[in-house]
Amino acid sequence: MHRSLQYFIVNAVFPLYEKVVMSLRPIKKFPDPVLRQPTFEIGEVDADVRKLVGDLVETMYAKNGAGLAAIQVGSLTKLFIVEASITGGDANDHPIVFINPKVEWFSPETEVADEGCLSFPGIYVPIKRPLKARLRAIGLDGKEFVAEGEGLYARAMLHENDHLNNKLLIDYVGPVKRQMIRRRLEKMSEEEADELQAQGE
Ligand SMILES: [Zn+2]
Repeated sequence: MHRSLQYFIVNAVFPLYEKVVMSLRPIKKFPDPVLRQPTFEIGEVDADVRKLVGDLVETMYAKNGAGLAAIQVGSLTKLFIVEASITGGDANDHPIVFINPKVEWFSPETEVADEGCLSFPGIYVPIKRPLKARLRAIGLDGKEFVAEGEGLYARAMLHENDHLNNKLLIDYVGPVKRQMIRRRLEKMSEEEADELQAQGE
């Protein structure tokens, strides 16, 4: 009677009457130029948006990611998801969907922690971020909500929100390290990227 975790989560995201065919999408790896293209607000949470969220959920779980922004799979929309265990939920909760998010507040206290990104497979860099952050966004149900997080939750929201503004992990490091990361990723084969992504964001 065991269903896969993914199946359960996705049924929690989507009403049972709606059939959403999800597809695994390839993740754009730096320096793919799409990661620097402007993103646009979503006008209406319609079937296309729900399909996109389904794809993001499937892709994020396949890659053990903590979060994923739509631009990372090539959709230039202001949308990202954050995995539930980070947001204070348990393993059976569905990811939180942030549509047209705005950072409303962040704490003056900061914290430095190593951060990874599915668009930078195998790369981890220490990044200083606010300890707490509050975002306002639209959910998959079309309703506005406010999410306030601390530590990893705040970090995940701010990291994904950065993607919507074309700010990437590599922008937080100095020029020497930036060059090293760029060279490493340019040389990386798809197979190696896949393997490293399977270890998670
Ligand atoms: Zn990322």
